[in-house]
Amino acid sequence: MDTLSVHKTRESGAAWTVQAILELYQLPFMDLLFRAQQVHREHHEPNAVQLSSLLSIKTGGCPEDCSYCPQSSRYDTAVEREKLMPLDQVIQAAQQAKAAGAQRFCMGAAWRNPKPHQVDAVADMIRAVKGLGLETCVTLGMLRDSQAAQLKQAGLDYYNHNLDTSPEFYGQIITTRTYQDRLDTLARVRDAGIHVCCGGIVGLGESRRERAGLIAQLANLNPYPESVPINNLVKVQGTPLADNEEIDPFEFVRTIAVARITMPGTFVRLSAGREAMPDSLQALCFMAGANSMFYGEKLLTTGNPQLQADQALFQRLDLKPIGQCDTDGPVTPAADTAAQPCACASSALAAS
Ligand code: SF4
Repeated sequence: MDTLSVHKTRESGAAWTVQAILELYQLPFMDLLFRAQQVHREHHEPNAVQLSSLLSIKTGGCPEDCSYCPQSSRYDTAVEREKLMPLDQVIQAAQQAKAAGAQRFCMGAAWRNPKPHQVDAVADMIRAVKGLGLETCVTLGMLRDSQAAQLKQAGLDYYNHNLDTSPEFYGQIITTRTYQDRLDTLARVRDAGIHVCCGGIVGLGESRRERAGLIAQLANLNPYPESVPINNLVKVQGTPLADNEEIDPFEFVRTIAVARITMPGTFVRLSAGREAMPDSLQALCFMAGANSMFYGEKLLTTGNPQLQADQALFQRLDLKPIGQCDTDGPVTPAADTAAQPCACASSALAAS
């Protein structure tokens, strides 16, 4: 199938089939990137990147058995179980993230599902972070309807809950909760009026067809997620996937491109695994349609490139962080977004 007929298939309104997505994957690499860049430019400001900062507010001791995760209590890793972080420390971290240029502050807790008093505590954090002028995102595991509503009321903008992989491969990665459990939580988040952040991981040992299966699940959510993190497995000693084979970097870029084409309006985020990527590979990912990234020194329990290295990369690629100011005023997500008044007193990134 050529790029035009792939595009026509989607314009007909039909759901994405795994086969159609597989055919995108199979396009010549340059054709795939060209198509992804075209779609990207139709829907986004091509040189803008959205920056999120991620803080682990409750680390380790998770009862789930996600095979890639060093926070699972089932695996012997270097991650220590910690208590929920106090509110003042969260506020301090959010202030630092904002000063460094982050637009969104994401808070992650290693829970299967939060208890009522834990949701109360996280709601206080959301209110405080929102009060600093940052967008808020949390990832807390499975939610009940009332919990999603409580988080929304506290001012939550995004809830992250990843599908991880295709339904067919999922059982080889996680056995303690089902794919349907995840879809149910995503539906509750959506029903509560919270934006959805949902993506997956490549390099788990899945086949290309299974990668296509993940993208089909994401693209066929109605509506598809506003934010789609694409993670490259970070192999951590002590986890069952510690010795997995590396995925071909160009296959990772293809996954970004396919996500961009199938979910044109979403923010495709470079997430875990970015630290190990050379700048040239990250640039290819931006070319393929990535326009969001985690930014900061820690990405939950694995390292993330230093702020200065990221800022240098933005300068070399002429990428502008959304929400920061350049000489023409605030950088907006899409070329046709109406100009907004400048909200920042100074721009750490634009000035650097
Ligand atoms: S990925 Fe999340 S749910 Fe799974 S073990 Fe890690 S912290 Fe727990």
